[in-house]
Amino acid sequence: MPKIFPQIAALVALLIAAGFFIWVQANDLLNATLERTLAKQTAILAVAAEERFDAEFASLRLAAKCLEAQQAAQVVLQTGNENISVGLLTADGNAIHDGTPLLNQDFPRLLSAYRGNEVVDYCAGKGVLFAVPVALGDNANAALYRLYDETLAAESFKLAEDNDTRLLIQDGDGKVIVPYKNYGAAEKEFFANAAFQRGFETLRDKLETQTSAAVYCDSPFGDFFLFATKLPHMNYTLVGCVPWESAAGDVAEIYNFMRVGGVLALILLAAGGAYLLVLRARLEDAGELRAAKLAADEANNAKSIFLANMSHKIRTPINAIVGMNEMILRESNSPEIVNYAQNTAAAAETLLSLVNDIRDFSKIESGKFALAEENYRLVDVIKNLVNMIRPRAEQKKLAFNLHVNPAAENILRGDSERIQQIALNFLSNAVKYTESGSVTFSVDGETVSADTFILSLSVKDTGKGIRDIPKLVEDCERFDIHKTRHADGTGLGLAITYKLVHMMNGKIDIQSAHGEGSTFTALIPQKIAGNELIGVFTEHAPAAQGKYQPAFVAPAATILVVDDDEMNLLVTAKLLQATQIKVDTATSGAACLKKLAERHYDLIFLDLMMPDLDGVQTLERTRAMDGNLSKNAPIIALTADAAPGTQQRLIDAGFNDYLTKPIDIKLLEQILVDFLPAEKILSPAPR
Ligand code: ADP
Repeated sequence: MPKIFPQIAALVALLIAAGFFIWVQANDLLNATLERTLAKQTAILAVAAEERFDAEFASLRLAAKCLEAQQAAQVVLQTGNENISVGLLTADGNAIHDGTPLLNQDFPRLLSAYRGNEVVDYCAGKGVLFAVPVALGDNANAALYRLYDETLAAESFKLAEDNDTRLLIQDGDGKVIVPYKNYGAAEKEFFANAAFQRGFETLRDKLETQTSAAVYCDSPFGDFFLFATKLPHMNYTLVGCVPWESAAGDVAEIYNFMRVGGVLALILLAAGGAYLLVLRARLEDAGELRAAKLAADEANNAKSIFLANMSHKIRTPINAIVGMNEMILRESNSPEIVNYAQNTAAAAETLLSLVNDIRDFSKIESGKFALAEENYRLVDVIKNLVNMIRPRAEQKKLAFNLHVNPAAENILRGDSERIQQIALNFLSNAVKYTESGSVTFSVDGETVSADTFILSLSVKDTGKGIRDIPKLVEDCERFDIHKTRHADGTGLGLAITYKLVHMMNGKIDIQSAHGEGSTFTALIPQKIAGNELIGVFTEHAPAAQGKYQPAFVAPAATILVVDDDEMNLLVTAKLLQATQIKVDTATSGAACLKKLAERHYDLIFLDLMMPDLDGVQTLERTRAMDGNLSKNAPIIALTADAAPGTQQRLIDAGFNDYLTKPIDIKLLEQILVDFLPAEKILSPAPR
């Protein structure tokens, strides 16, 4: 966001520059218009002044004529106004008939009147004088004058209507002949300011080519317009000044309004522009964020898919390791080698559970995880768990206690594999983090309605305990592969367990005293799917540890195993060796179809992931095939995918059952017992 500050500053600077430019242009335009208007008005005033002068001279001229003709000049000369004096002067300045004698130095132009000219003159304090020559016989020249005293002069020659306008009439030498009201020393000084002088200079230049002109003048007294015009027929000039506001009149108001409006508009424009810039920056940021999130999501998704695929692929070699190791365990007579093989088996089991965790984690993370919903017997889940965990506990010399409430519901509906996974996580951790003492597994629950049972799976140990439960819970709930890492392990197991329990709308409770032990309890709602209680739980006596003994032999049975991985074929064949079943193999779907046309098999194991024809396609071909000698033979899917829903998907596709890799010998035997013709299953010969 800060990166837009220079842009905003540039925008504001640009707007200020544009505003200034428009302002100057508007001013120039307005002043030029006002100058033209004023020049025109001044020209009209000049005509009016001249008319006024003409009238003055005309009346004086008429009186002079009368005087020359010895007529009743008195009548003409009387004014009846004490501010106006009229008189007849001789060239020496004496009044010869009525009137006041006037001094030539006050009105120097009188001299010109004696010489036969009509004159106007002004003397500060005395007034404005109009004089015409009078010829009084014997060549004695005289002048008839009319003098308007100071106050009246300004009043009677007032040409401008408003009081702001100062208007003077000057003669050709620049001498004032008609002042305006209050034209005194202060006003003279006012007119003498340098800015005005420059303005009048400009006016004089303009008057060389035009009769009337006005200029704008920025003076220390404010903004003014100066104007000047020549009287059309006299060698006089009308000059003056008017304040800018008076000249502009209403336009000034509009102008000021526009000035304020313009500034406001600029501010608004700047604010709007800044807002748009901010908006654009935000949108860009949001766009970048969206793109970044999209990229992160894509990367995360790719990671999840990669992990899911890899963990799937890793199961195949683990199958070979587990299978081959099983053969070593079966066939070796050296206790040392059997010990190695046992360690290998334990390591392979850990590896497998890790791979499963990674697969589950990435599936949950990418949202591709779904819970199965099928009926199951709780007692089977408990049996599996006890079978898996009791040997591990005993190996660590830990007491393993089991409490199963006989009143618990037995037939439930939900995802039994995931229920088992949750309890197994608690149990494995209890064994893992307990060095001495006991691990106690309690299965209980509460029937809360006709069809809901809150299953309670609780594991108590006497191990090292947990230092910071809130942190552990927070890490698990955040479900972040980076955050769940712990010194002791991957930390994936408990995070997945939390997720699974939440997905089933259940909750987990952890109680722990550091150094004394912990209790993990999961409360999970399950649907009640039958009317049966667990009753007294009896554990089967654990199978005697020692050499592998097949559960049965079937020398008359022949089966076909189809897998593109020859190592897997070898593992399956070897695992079945002790059962004496005849095992035939095929490494592709096409090879399988060929074999089926050649002979009859009692059962077929078909791998799902094969190039060209995959398991499902091969199955469809066998079902539709003419001359299939094993048309009714059960077909069992071999898959590395133990995800929920897989079983149903495979049954829907037409398989009779499925077996996950790495192959569990017990499950393998179980499937053979279930699907081989019963008469071919024989008890193993006792050793
Ligand atoms: P792991 O980290 O061993 O792969 P989990 O993800 O199941 O397994 O557990 C997360 C962490 O919780 C463990 O690393 C361990 O620190 C702690 N923990 C879990 N169960 C127990 C227990 N019964 N006693 C002590 N600590 C435990």
